[in-house]
Amino acid sequence: SMASPALLMRVVASAYSVAEKAATIVRNVMSAGDLGIVEKAGPNDLQTKADRLVQMSICASLARKFPKVTIIGEEELPTDDVTEDLIEDGHCEEILKKPCPAQYTGIKEEELVIWVDPLDGTKEYTEGLLDHVTVLIGIAYGGKAIAGVINQPYYNYEAGANAVLGRTIWGVLGMGAFGFQLTEAPAGKHIVVTTRSHSSALVNECIAALNPDHVIRVGGAGNKIIQLIEGKASAYVFASPGCKKWDTCAPEAILHAVGGKITDIRGNSFQYNKEVKHMNSAGVLATLRNYDYYASRIPNTVKESLVP
Ligand code: AMP
Ligand code: MG
Ligand code: MG
Repeated sequence: SMASPALLMRVVASAYSVAEKAATIVRNVMSAGDLGIVEKAGPNDLQTKADRLVQMSICASLARKFPKVTIIGEEELPTDDVTEDLIEDGHCEEILKKPCPAQYTGIKEEELVIWVDPLDGTKEYTEGLLDHVTVLIGIAYGGKAIAGVINQPYYNYEAGANAVLGRTIWGVLGMGAFGFQLTEAPAGKHIVVTTRSHSSALVNECIAALNPDHVIRVGGAGNKIIQLIEGKASAYVFASPGCKKWDTCAPEAILHAVGGKITDIRGNSFQYNKEVKHMNSAGVLATLRNYDYYASRIPNTVKESLVP
């Protein structure tokens, strides 16, 4: 049709380009060599120059185009002194051409909340585990994660100098998710993916109770959802507070768009309205398939230790 594209598709198309600009900043800060590391709550809660610049870039770029949308970013930073070189005003033409799912065509700017994790997997970024890093832009409506963009700036970084570095995965509920090859985990095997830098006795107790065939410990909530949708792992299990709404919003939208499921460890779905508490206090349980298998095996003692 010749009608102008729905707001949601314009936001996703812009978020795609904004996330690609973000990825360039993430790579440039690393190659320049001065990460400017700041401890937030402690040594396992870091912020780098890349987290700061990317947050300013994403939030200012989207706010300029969509001034009435609520944008909530991880980093506490001033928003008034963003330099023009951080602004991205492009969009992905291919996304703009796709029809918006009917249930979302009437959405207004003031009804959207965008959750931004400028750099997910900061600890791993500072340690050179570069493919763990993602940029997360999640879009919520009516308290639900309905669309998301995950950029992986160092995708392919071990494939050699001629490989194309980085990729952008995006999805919308009712439409699907794109930019990767949806793959099922090996049938009959229980492969759990979990944190590598925020473990605890409870995290390990919960995993042990699932009696997995294999445990993958990698950084980043975005990265762990990628492990699920590419068939590397069958469940993401994190029985701990620590993950926030900006960690789960974009991953949730993409996982749900391909038929997966994410909840807290007790089985409650996440809410993404602007008033919601940022912390996912009761942890994370996510799968592409067989959610019930894992949910039914989480011990009650673990559930009772985590208060939503
Ligand atoms: P991880 O799986 O450890 O990479 O955690 C996924 C996301 O949640 C990352 O953004 C982490 O920074 C955040 N996170 C998880 N646990 C904690 C924690 N104990 N303190 C601070 N951030 C955390
Ligand atoms: Mg994060
Ligand atoms: Mg972050």
